[in-house]
Amino acid sequence: MFDQLRRSVTERTESLHECRRCGTDVEEADGRCPACGSTEIAHYEF
Ligand SMILES: [Zn+2]
Repeated sequence: MFDQLRRSVTERTESLHECRRCGTDVEEADGRCPACGSTEIAHYEF
């Protein structure tokens, strides 16, 4: 049960969102950069 939970969490971390302006990691794709306030977020998947 806990193994399945852990696996789903790991899959979520395989994508990365990063501010296009300053390069800060942003947790949500639709979010706003906490550092500079930009809404231009780049989305990378591994
Ligand atoms: Zn930024």
